Amino acid sequence: MDKPALTLTDRFGRRIEYLRLSVTDRCDLRCTYCLPKGFKDFEEPEHWLTFDEIERLLGAFARVGVNRIRLTGGEPLLRRNLPELAARLHRLPGIRDISLSTNATQLSKYAGALKNAGVARINVSLDSLKRERFARIAGRDCLDRVIAGLMAAKEAGFTPIKINMVALSGVNDDEIDDMVEFCMAHGFVLRLIETMPMGVTGRNAAYFDLQPVKRRLQEKFDLVEGVVPGGGPARYLQTPDGKFSVGFITPISQHFCATCNRVRLVVDGTLFMCLGQNEKFEFRPLLRAGARDADLETAIRTAIELKPERHEFHETPQKIVRFMSATGG
Ligand code: SAM
Repeated sequence: MDKPALTLTDRFGRRIEYLRLSVTDRCDLRCTYCLPKGFKDFEEPEHWLTFDEIERLLGAFARVGVNRIRLTGGEPLLRRNLPELAARLHRLPGIRDISLSTNATQLSKYAGALKNAGVARINVSLDSLKRERFARIAGRDCLDRVIAGLMAAKEAGFTPIKINMVALSGVNDDEIDDMVEFCMAHGFVLRLIETMPMGVTGRNAAYFDLQPVKRRLQEKFDLVEGVVPGGGPARYLQTPDGKFSVGFITPISQHFCATCNRVRLVVDGTLFMCLGQNEKFEFRPLLRAGARDADLETAIRTAIELKPERHEFHETPQKIVRFMSATGG
């Protein structure tokens, strides 16, 4: 008989079953709200968890109750042999969903291999469909590559493919309707995201309140409330036939901490309990000091005890000095 699945529950009764794994803190883009131009303070390669260490640690997470993993970064496709890591994690007992967040600059090269490795779902960041504007926001003139990557993912059969658009006041807020139409035409799910005050770049970003947009899009496109698999914190609106969905990730105007089910493991083996707080637990020293599997499982339970109730982006927006790319958004 199969062993009953264990559950990992925090002090507030939230079940933690989702782990976001940042496989690198490096990125080939410099989005204005994320990583500052000229930033060089990246993690040393000898501090990166190896694939063997990641597989071992995530195996322990799976044994105590995590069942979903998202590969993120930085830009995860910059980590060499990512499909091999995905395949290894996909084979871990208890893991039933592997997904990827990417900027898609390298996606046309890897879409097929990722699909074969067991990655089921892909989120692609795309803040503008206008070439020059994209280049201004992302710090690189490569919209064509991103679109080619997206189309390769569609061709490879990923479903759903979600587009993450960070809404920036006075920068791309006039393009939201175009993005809705683009996603409707291609069968993509759209997710609109409010900027979070992570690091100086996040704090200086042109915050745009999405609540009025939600009401406006609902009327214009006849949308109804809906649910999307793996939808996480996004609140969704859909066309009545369910063919198109738009989600709103609104950590500032309407936070969703009460249902938070996730933690974030970064490339050097640090586990962050919340995007908007500093509580953390270091796993690399344990892994490299020969911890036994049972020690890792105990350490995971100890770490989860540290998970705070909620972020305080409103009250103390200056608190988080980490950039989103370091924690893995
Ligand atoms: N490189 C991958 C990508 O582009 O999706 C994964 C990492 S990226 C940090 C993950 C997501 O975080 C992206 O959708 C990005 O737009 C978003 N992001 C980065 N900084 C942010 C901020 N300050 N506020 C809100 N979202 C942010």
